[in-house]
Amino acid sequence: MDDRSGDTGARSLLGRLRIVMAGSGSPEDRLTEVVQSIASSMKAEVCSTYIRRAGDILELYATEGLFPEAVHRTRLRLGEGLVGVIAATARPLSLSDAQSHPAFAYRPETGEEIYHSLMGVPILRSGQVTGVLVVQNRSRRHYTDEEIETLQTVAMVLAELVAGGGLVSRDELHPTEGIATLPHRLDGLRLNPGVAIGIAVLHQPSIVISQFVAEDPEAELVRLDVGIEQMQRAIDRLLASSGLGDGGEHADILETYRMFAEDRGWLGRIREAVRSGLTAEAAVQKVRDDTRARMKQISDPYVRERLADLEDLANRLQHHLTGETTIIPSDQLPDDVVLIARNMGPAELLDYDRRRLRALILEEGSPTSHVAIVARALDIPVVGRCKGALSQIEPDDLLVVDGDNAQVMIRPSEDIQVAVEQRLAERRTRRAVYQSARNLPAMTQDGVTVGLYMNAGLLIDLPELDASNADGIGLYRTELPFMIRSSFPSVIEQAHLYRRILEQANGKPVVFRTLDIGGDKLLPYLPETIEENPAMGWRAIRIALDRPTMLRHQLRALILGAFGQSFSVMFPMVAETAEFLAARRILELELQRAKQRGRKLPERIQVGAMIEVPSLIFQLDTLCKHVDFVSVGSNDLMQFLFASDRGNPRLADRYDLLSPPALRCLREILHVTQKAGVRVSICGEMAGNPLEAMALIGLGFRHLSMTPGSIGPVKAMVRTIDSGPLSLFVSHLLEQSDHSFRSKLHDYAADHGITV
Ligand code: PEP
Ligand code: MG
Repeated sequence: MDDRSGDTGARSLLGRLRIVMAGSGSPEDRLTEVVQSIASSMKAEVCSTYIRRAGDILELYATEGLFPEAVHRTRLRLGEGLVGVIAATARPLSLSDAQSHPAFAYRPETGEEIYHSLMGVPILRSGQVTGVLVVQNRSRRHYTDEEIETLQTVAMVLAELVAGGGLVSRDELHPTEGIATLPHRLDGLRLNPGVAIGIAVLHQPSIVISQFVAEDPEAELVRLDVGIEQMQRAIDRLLASSGLGDGGEHADILETYRMFAEDRGWLGRIREAVRSGLTAEAAVQKVRDDTRARMKQISDPYVRERLADLEDLANRLQHHLTGETTIIPSDQLPDDVVLIARNMGPAELLDYDRRRLRALILEEGSPTSHVAIVARALDIPVVGRCKGALSQIEPDDLLVVDGDNAQVMIRPSEDIQVAVEQRLAERRTRRAVYQSARNLPAMTQDGVTVGLYMNAGLLIDLPELDASNADGIGLYRTELPFMIRSSFPSVIEQAHLYRRILEQANGKPVVFRTLDIGGDKLLPYLPETIEENPAMGWRAIRIALDRPTMLRHQLRALILGAFGQSFSVMFPMVAETAEFLAARRILELELQRAKQRGRKLPERIQVGAMIEVPSLIFQLDTLCKHVDFVSVGSNDLMQFLFASDRGNPRLADRYDLLSPPALRCLREILHVTQKAGVRVSICGEMAGNPLEAMALIGLGFRHLSMTPGSIGPVKAMVRTIDSGPLSLFVSHLLEQSDHSFRSKLHDYAADHGITV
């Protein structure tokens, strides 16, 4: 088969369409000219365009060959007639004897009974069916694969005419009630609760194609090859910088890349589309649309993931072809931003204007990934592992993000919007209830007081201290201000910041955690180090001890900023007592230095270590001789305890914090510290979840530090428990060998009227 002859047909037809599309007539006139051109070029007696309207109706908008009176009269439901079937399945259909097909629906007003063969393709835009393009012939003929391809290519150009407006309203282009194959609700994993409504902003937006039809297809092929090469080189660089075999996203890209290196199908299909007359970026889009349509019919998760990777590659290739950058300037963002990304680092999230951020949707992500933690600090709902978000959500779509139920509703109907507004109002009322409990003590029914502290990392978090009436700041992540700057802050700049924090804390205790950089927390101005396992790599106290100047400057700034006031400081990722002692010596040096210079010394500095590395638990008794307090960083501790990457979505549900190993480990920490008389707190994410917090109190923890939004719900829980029976219940649980105690703890809470 000589596919060049087919290409040439498509190419000359596209050439004609280009002239029609650029013409000055109304969109309907242009649509009529388009169907006339297609009919004559494809030697079909009939060519018709059906456009999808509200209520999932396909309406005949233009025809060459059918009775003109049928235009706007012939309407088919989705799934009704052959046109309806093409729309519902989003697949082409080619029949030499259309009338014998069981779905054929005869419409007398069209006069179509004399046409026997039919070939139709969906008009797809971003995976959505916006209409159907059909050709018909009198004879019982077979349409070739090339003809089907040609019609698909033309349909893609038509999709732009439909989307360009003037034919149907935008609302109709995005109907709210769904087709089975095009879901309007996506499910994911709850990363942060809450509900929000806002406008979709894609973190790496798809490019806007301004020209679909190429002027010189040969030159376009060269452009495509250059783009492919650039993309491949960029992926090579990415792989080189990730180190081989580190798992996670990079490994997936590597796998995908290899797949394309071996399977030329994808690139081959793009080249073919360019040969048929499309521009390189439009050709990528065409293949991408076909892939999306295929994706909707595949349930095998592995194949779907591979197709999602193709989607990612298509996006990369389009960016290389157009040279478009992906950063959206702040003033071009809508007021209510719902951000959508495959995954992102915490600094990337902070690049966005937080006053506009309403919610975050990630195609990947896990509860303890840093981006989720930062989002929690921003108090926005987050739905992670939301497969299909990037392909099914378009920029500017209205979205409802239901973090409580881990759902995203795309272009919700009006009643859903009303219901969401109601939920938001209820939430405000609930907050008001927590607010009214603001001054009540966090005391159990049997009179045990639990210290509730908040985690913070940005100055903007500080007002929450008063609003939530937390007992203090149990974890101030000092690296966050470093991450959102373009250069390293000087000692004076840091000191100003620490002073403002202590001023705003207004006498309440503050625990500063020294810089925890490395891992997924990179500073834009420090050279990136290539590590196979960054979470277990050169990070936190390890960097601080190897490059002591950074730690010295930070401690100097803390002493300076405190200006005589007391504060606490703790070191992250301590693996052994010797490391803690080395860090403490640096603090002593800085205190001496400050003294020699006649600075006002803080009344008291309490020095602590974070328990995040399991090895430290085996030396906790000796550590306790040197620390004023310890704080359990359960996010890191649990990932190392279970050897389970906290950022890997595949492992997010694998191990439960409410399981025997996790709780027994925490009980051990509690025993040793209690025996030594050292205060112990817990500041990982689990402390902010009422059910987990209940278990922690049952174990014996009395100091919990959490995201400010959790203080109200956790306090409400504390006030409903009776700590005596709870602690008996928890110690009894620890003797059992369940995978998780989650449901048993839930039942206990329900039976004892505990609000979790
Ligand atoms: C932790 O690991 O639990 C912790 C509080 O530190 P971070 O989440 O910042 O690593
Ligand atoms: Mg940590």
